[in-house]
This record gives sequence, structure tokens and C-alpha cells, in this order.
Amino acid sequence: MAKYVPDITTNRWVIIAEGRTKRPTDTKLSGAQNINKICVFCPGLERIPGEELYRLGGGSPYERGWRVRVIKNKYPITDFHEVIIHSPQDKVDIPELELTQIELIIAAYRHRFIANSKMGHVMIFNNVGEAAGASIRHPHSQVVVVPRQITIDTLPLEPVVNVVRESRDFTVFCPDFSQWPFEVWIAPKTKGKYFGEIKDGEIEGLAFLLKETLNRLLFHLSGGAHLHPGMPMIPFKAGPAYNFYIHHGQNWYLRIIPRLVHRAGFELGTGIQVNIVDPADAAETLRQEIGG
Ligand SMILES: [Zn+2]
Repeated sequence: MAKYVPDITTNRWVIIAEGRTKRPTDTKLSGAQNINKICVFCPGLERIPGEELYRLGGGSPYERGWRVRVIKNKYPITDFHEVIIHSPQDKVDIPELELTQIELIIAAYRHRFIANSKMGHVMIFNNVGEAAGASIRHPHSQVVVVPRQITIDTLPLEPVVNVVRESRDFTVFCPDFSQWPFEVWIAPKTKGKYFGEIKDGEIEGLAFLLKETLNRLLFHLSGGAHLHPGMPMIPFKAGPAYNFYIHHGQNWYLRIIPRLVHRAGFELGTGIQVNIVDPADAAETLRQEIGG
């Protein structure tokens, strides 16, 4: 059971979720620490990890045949915490998956957003790499519902500037108010919508841009010529580390945050984030084509 503790003067909250210390981890691959030899998100073990809530693809609940599967998180942050397993494939994630599979993942996001909306604020997010907080390697996203009476410290949709690219329905851009180096936002051109209102045609467009944008980040942030020499950043050489989340409120957006830096004392003490890369420069880098 999650415990919500307020700070009365600032209306901020912490969630005390002691049960999460018991959750398994398999991202530490160094010998003895790798306690999870089998992956419970892989096909064939559907009965182990938790109550099945939803699936896309075929097969009966708790059987094989699914293409995307949603289960209850056994180690929840809040009372409603779900895991969306991206595909039956253990090591293939969005940058490499086929577009039709990514469309299914986003369709599952929409389904769970709508299904959980009456319970509170629906946070959908994806953690990739240990530095981004991932503990199970098999690619998955999470859905956490925060009760409405809990204030969420979140950003509204920022003005569209520093455009990386655009499609019929979406713009990919690096906001002037970027708190992290190379953070990228994908926002629908139609304003005023909640994510749950996304249409099938828009899901196709978002799947394409999400995959494409992640691949731009992976390419440009892997330590190549575009990371300036001497920059105090951790490139993706040893593997990518990033988060993305979908804004829960009106005027939704999808925000991708590469985890290239650690937060330090000044930022922790002031709440002011220091971004060492100008978002205009980040956009210029990301506009450059992938290849060669
Ligand atoms: Zn697996």
C-alpha cells in the first residue's frame, strides 16, 4: 500500500512505496547479481508475473499468442500500477521494432489511459537503461495512476520552437525550456486534447516519429562527432539510457529525456536545472540525417 506524504508549505508530495525494494532486477548483468536467469515477461511464462489485464494479438489470457500484453505490477508505486510488455521479443525495443508493433504498443497506451482515467491522473512512461531506472531488461512501459488530490509537479506543453521535423499531425521539437541536454518533445498539432483521444491515423504517425526520433537520438548521442569533445556527458556507447513519458493532462505531449548527465548539488538544492546544451543546438544536431 503506497503512503502519500505531503509537504504542507509547497504542496509537493512523496510516495513511500516500501514494497518496491523487493522487486527483482536483471539489468545488473555482473555475475552473482544476475538473480533473474529466466525472464518472466517472455512468452511461455504468462502465469508468473502478475494478473493479466489486457492483450493485443491472439491467444487466451495467460497463454501465448499475444503481441502486446498488459499486467498488474507486483511491486506497485501506487495502487494502480501496470506493465505494458512491448512485444514477445526479449531484446528488441522501439528503435528496432516494426512500425505495426509500435502502433500496437501505442494503441495499448491509449486503451490503458482510457481504462484508468476515472481512477486519477494516468502517467504512462518508459525507462530504458539502468541510468534511467529500468530494472527488467525485457522492453516494457509502465502505467501509474496518481490520485487526483495529489498535486503533480509537471510541465504544460511548451511553445513549439527549434523544430527537428514535422508530419501532418505532429511536431518534433526541442523546447527553449529544456531541462535536460537533447530532450525532445513530440506534440500533436491539434491542441486541447488528452492522450486518450488520439485517433488510429495519429497512432500511425506517432509510431513512425517515435521510432525515428529515438533512432536520431541513439545515432547522434552514441559518442560520435556530434557530442562536443570534453562535454561532461555520458554518451550512449555502452547502451542507451533514456526515459519518455506521455503528459497526463490536456494538451498532451510525449517527452523523451536522454540520461546523459547526473543531477548535482546545485540542482537538488534549488530545483533549477542546468542544461549544458542549448536546445537550438540540440535541434540542429538532431535535424542532421542519420548515416555515415
Ligand atoms: Zn523476456
